[in-house]
Amino acid sequence: MINYEKERNRMVDEQIVSRGVRDPRVLGAMCKVPRHEFVPEAMRAKAYGDHALPVGEGQTISQPYIVALMTELLEVKSTDRVLEIGTGSGYQAAVLSELCEKVFTIERVKTLAEKARAVLDRLGCRNVAMKVYDGTYGWKEMAPFDAIIVTAAAPDVPTALIEQLKEGGRLVIPVGDRFEQVLKKVVKSPSGLVTVTGIPCTFVPLIGAHGWKE
Ligand code: SAH
Repeated sequence: MINYEKERNRMVDEQIVSRGVRDPRVLGAMCKVPRHEFVPEAMRAKAYGDHALPVGEGQTISQPYIVALMTELLEVKSTDRVLEIGTGSGYQAAVLSELCEKVFTIERVKTLAEKARAVLDRLGCRNVAMKVYDGTYGWKEMAPFDAIIVTAAAPDVPTALIEQLKEGGRLVIPVGDRFEQVLKKVVKSPSGLVTVTGIPCTFVPLIGAHGWKE
């Protein structure tokens, strides 16, 4: 039997704290959410490894460090409403659900959304709303959001997402070509947008009206 809790604590120490993520709330959520529940059964033994893993439909669950880093960059408070584009396995949504009031997550592939919904329900993540749609339009009816995270590679920052951000809101998104991107954090400050560029990364493409063509 694998001791998943031990694996999880080791993942946080060796992959996340060691690379500089410090927010105690983020570290707490990463220690708590059972990542192995979000990967295909045959890959559970590898769930806490220092890498992304395939979750079906050609999509991936991001590397643990990237999930923690992006979550820290979002600066989520317990009263925040957060939008995620690219539900995938549902793991990032589960991490966010520990840290904020409500998570809204959008996935374009129906079978992935259904699987993620089932896992989130089983784990009792009741503050996650989900829809199957092109997330490059955002979720207008539920806007504005305190924070928005895009977990697929975008050619540019979709303007709809900036519009749906509250003043003071944070958007974290990988921007680049289809093969390599950099993490960007955009803050909607009263005096305009402030963009900070972070580390290089590789995500699956954001496909949609304001993303890449299929
Ligand atoms: N956050 C996920 C990993 C996401 S992988 C996790 O924790 O597991 C990126 C996901 O974005 C894929 O599932 C892909 O289908 C989805 N995606 C790509 N383009 C999209 C779009 N325009 N709208 C919504 N989801 C999209």
